[in-house]
Amino acid sequence: MNLKQEIDKRKTFAIISHPDAGKTTLTEKLLLFGNVIRSAGTVKGKKSGKFAASDWMEIEKKRGISVTSSVMSFPYHDFHVNILDTPGHEDFSEDTYRTLTAVDSVVMIIDSTKGVEPQTIKLFKVCRMRGIPIFTFMNKLDREGRDPLELLAEIEEVLGIESYPMNWPVGMGKRFLGIYDRYSESFVRFNGNEEESVYKVDEMEEKAADIYENPTYQDTLGELELLNEAGNDFDPERVRKGELTPVFFGSALSNFGVQTFFDTFLQFAASPQPRRTNEGFIEPEKQDFSGYVFKIQANMNTKHRDRIAFLRICSGTFERGMSVTLSRTNKIIKLSQSQSFMAGDRETVDVAYPGDIIGIYDPNAYQIGDTLTAGKDRFEYEELPQFPPEMFKKVRAKNVMKSKQFKKGIDQLVQEGAIQLFRQELTDDIILGAVGQLQFEVFEERMRSEYNAEIEFTSLGDRIARWIDGDKVDRKKFDNRSMLVKDRYGQYAVLFENEFTYRYFRDNNKDIKLIDLLESN
Ligand code: GDP
Repeated sequence: MNLKQEIDKRKTFAIISHPDAGKTTLTEKLLLFGNVIRSAGTVKGKKSGKFAASDWMEIEKKRGISVTSSVMSFPYHDFHVNILDTPGHEDFSEDTYRTLTAVDSVVMIIDSTKGVEPQTIKLFKVCRMRGIPIFTFMNKLDREGRDPLELLAEIEEVLGIESYPMNWPVGMGKRFLGIYDRYSESFVRFNGNEEESVYKVDEMEEKAADIYENPTYQDTLGELELLNEAGNDFDPERVRKGELTPVFFGSALSNFGVQTFFDTFLQFAASPQPRRTNEGFIEPEKQDFSGYVFKIQANMNTKHRDRIAFLRICSGTFERGMSVTLSRTNKIIKLSQSQSFMAGDRETVDVAYPGDIIGIYDPNAYQIGDTLTAGKDRFEYEELPQFPPEMFKKVRAKNVMKSKQFKKGIDQLVQEGAIQLFRQELTDDIILGAVGQLQFEVFEERMRSEYNAEIEFTSLGDRIARWIDGDKVDRKKFDNRSMLVKDRYGQYAVLFENEFTYRYFRDNNKDIKLIDLLESN
């Protein structure tokens, strides 16, 4: 098979959602379709208490998180599917955001009983700023949820993206009869078990009279007419640009509407696209291999203190043992230890194509965002964006005698992208910023184990970070509630204690332009 065919087969995506919306349940169903697992309940075990068979990271084992399943790959029909996991809950970290730079499409799960929730908004914004196509799965239709029209309106208002319902629920909860598939003009009957019966809508009266005569069904036909007249048109091009999200209603738990969703999703989801570099766009079909590092995983286990860099392949063919150039340093590295991932198992990968994610052994050489290329051309993939941290802690060395190790550790871990560094403008105190608590824990553990430096945190709590456009500031305007800091590039930022202090400051300092990284990038 040639490179072009391999590329066209690839569908690399992430599933984003607020905790408990049904990401694990949906992922499992997709793995079942792909024959990767045989029964549900086998994917990661936070709830069931089962751990993935790996001692990958001590901390993660303690918390019951599985990192090795961060990429799940499998063939499905004519496709090669790569699902990238985006951890939620307390495991939420900058890696979660960065992972979204490595996918070509995103599935957003929304709990239909709740609507759009905070974590979904954050992740959505990142997809939006990268122009990634977004597909929505409106989950838990078997429960009494909110009005579908209201849910759509919420997506449009809160997230600011237009929507196109691919199907439409007929009833909900106890009155849930099934879904009307607008795309194929058919009705899929909900039988309460995993069997779906499908009827063409113009045969309903004859073949499913009980449903056809049900007032709920008739009401739905009315709603659909409204949608046809007043709603958006389906436009695959706008889907590809991330301007329009196709919405699918269903129930992951009852496996209802999931397969139709998946099949349609794969049909419209983007294959690997050309990517921007400092030398212009690089086509995936370019013969020379290239890719970039979007995540680095350090093993906390002292017995195997190795690090794995996660590489998104962007062009050409990867072959194990090949030599590549690290663009940042111009060093040549032989990639002999490479792994692909499948829900807990790591196996050696010999060949991989654009869209694939591989793990490569990191001899302490890589940084997040690094570009690797084979062939003569030199270029670097677009820098990964900086994401606004939300939790802040002052940090200092417990033992002042070890300030050298302390400084080295901070420098390297910040470089690597494990955590963000700030300095308080007035006191020069070191402040660390993270998007999730796990980042602080990993940082503390690695400072101890890799740099022999015990550290002490003083929490500054959750804060709202805004960058200042410009390099002149009047220090008198800032205090502990609106704390003036510099990021590691020397750019001014303000850490606001809460939404109220932020708004107050903004309204009283109209001359200072404050930048929200998630919206400005
Ligand atoms: P995650 O935190 O997003 O991975 O969510 P899970 O997949 O673990 O689901 C959270 C809870 O919602 C679990 O108890 C699931 O059984 C339940 N759940 C998931 N999908 C559905 C659904 O379609 N209907 C109902 N009623 N419950 C669901």
